[in-house]
Order: sequence, then C-alpha cells, then structure tokens
Amino acid sequence: MAKSPEVKLAVFGRAGVGKSALVVRFLTRRFIWEYDPTLGKKHLLLFYGDTENDSHEDLQQRESHMRWGDGFIIVYDITDRGSFEDVAPLRSLLEDVKKPKNVPLVLVGNKCDLDHARQVGTEEGERLAAEMACAFYECSACADEGGAVAEAFHEVCREVRRRKAVQ
Ligand code: GDP
Repeated sequence: MAKSPEVKLAVFGRAGVGKSALVVRFLTRRFIWEYDPTLGKKHLLLFYGDTENDSHEDLQQRESHMRWGDGFIIVYDITDRGSFEDVAPLRSLLEDVKKPKNVPLVLVGNKCDLDHARQVGTEEGERLAAEMACAFYECSACADEGGAVAEAFHEVCREVRRRKAVQ
C-alpha cells in the first residue's frame, strides 16, 4: 500500500512561548516548503498545544495529540526559564506515549530577537538538545531574518521521512 504523503506535526510548549507565531511565520512562507526539492510536495497537518495546565483532561488531550503526531517541535522562550524547564518533562512524556522511543523531534528556543531579556543561554539549549539527541534552533517568529523558523519545520519533516523510509 502506498504510504500517506501527510506529515502530522505537533508543536508543544508553555503558553506564550510563540507557538502560533512560529506556525504563522512558517505557513506564510509555505512556498519554501512546496518548492524544497529535498522534501517534495507534501501535505502538512499541524497542531499546537500549551503544556501549562495539568488537569486530568489536559494531560489526556496532550497524550492523544502526541499519539496523533508523526513529528514534534518543542518550543521554549529564551526569555522565560520556566518554559525551558518544561522541556525535559515534556520530552519524557513524549517518549512514554510514543513507542518506539526516539521520535522525530526538534527543539526551538524562540524570541531570540529579545537577547537583552535572555534567561536561557544558547549553549544550554544546545546541551539539552544533545541530551535529547535532536536538532536545535534558536529563532525569532517576529524577526526571522535567516529563515531558521522554516529550517526547524523542514528538519522535523525530513526526520519523519527518514524514519518512515527505514521502517
Ligand atoms: P503561544 O501561546 O505559544 O501560541 O504564543 P503566541 O504565538 O500567541 O505568542 C505569545 C506572545 O509572544 C505574542 O505577544 C507574540 O507576539 C509574542 N511573540 C511570539 N514570538 C515572538 C518572537 O519571536 N519575538 C518576540 N519579541 N515576540 C514574540
């Protein structure tokens, strides 16, 4: 049977880290996605959800979106250390919910235009990503000059495709 061309991508992170801003930034430049020769033309389904509330229903919802997704972006805000501290538990939950482990994942430190208010160093993000064995991008949904936002989305999609190819 032909494989589905869809990539289901879920974006997680504390409320206010910039998930919707990143998704809008990426989608409004979606021509890059459509014409990227390494990716081909694909459908992309996106979901993004906050991870701040810990009621039973919220947790169940989060887990069901984790089961739904093929690939994941975990976002923190470089000006909010609490959002960075959310990352490791979120990744543990992802590993518990998704089996087999080692899911396609990218870590994004957003709002790097606000360097004067930085609470999380670049090297801390790099170290955490190395521990989680995933790619890491610092970017800004508001001032995405180098295209790092699109690159983060592309990387997780490429990772999904790599995993599907070896299945
Ligand atoms: P969400 O709750 O994670 O979806 O966060 P939003 O996308 O709604 O963003 C929360 C706030 O942060 C909004 O006021 C955004 O304008 C702002 N924001 C998002 N990304 C950036 C960024 O890269 N730089 C700056 N300076 N503000 C951002």
